[in-house]
Amino acid sequence: MSAAGPALERRTFLKAAGGGFTLGGLLGLGLDLRAAQEEARHLKIAGVREVPSVCPYCAVGCGQLVHVRDQRIINIEGNPESPINQGTLCPKGAATYQLAVNPNRVTRVWHRAPGASEWDKTKTLDWAMRRIAQLVKETRDATFQETWTTRDSQGREVSKTVNHTLAIASLGGATMDNEWNYVQAKLMRALGVVFIENQARI
Ligand code: SF4
Repeated sequence: MSAAGPALERRTFLKAAGGGFTLGGLLGLGLDLRAAQEEARHLKIAGVREVPSVCPYCAVGCGQLVHVRDQRIINIEGNPESPINQGTLCPKGAATYQLAVNPNRVTRVWHRAPGASEWDKTKTLDWAMRRIAQLVKETRDATFQETWTTRDSQGREVSKTVNHTLAIASLGGATMDNEWNYVQAKLMRALGVVFIENQARI
């Protein structure tokens, strides 16, 4: 007999423990936590607005529920009514809340000017965006090629229209969503960038 009571056989205990003490496992021990579980769920989302959404990360398109209280996101979880994921999310989708609400979220950039030995940690994201746009424009203007000269099979010099720059590359990150990737690829191709890649493909 164990401290859990006479009804708890060693075989039953091991079976439940092997299941990682899931609800089913605890039910096997004679402990019915369904009422407590339902109450906890109710308390977690009491008084919140539930907004159906779609995980932004990949083309599977899992349904999510975004819980909002006082105009702030307080929870994001899988939507059990979605026929695609039926309430489940992969680890990336399950971490969406931490991406949206996180005190570690970067709001300043570090910048080390050419020739400087120290980092300037006071620059804003807006400053960084303007700086990147300025450098992209300058680089593209300085390196853009309308034509490319090569030789045909007879060895004659021929000129081909290319309209590209080989001085800029674009590497997307895995947390960029589908729509962002689409717009970024459009922008890069409009600029004549041909080296376009994404970390999710590497
Ligand atoms: S939860 Fe995972 S599988 Fe589902 S859409 Fe998001 S990234 Fe894709």
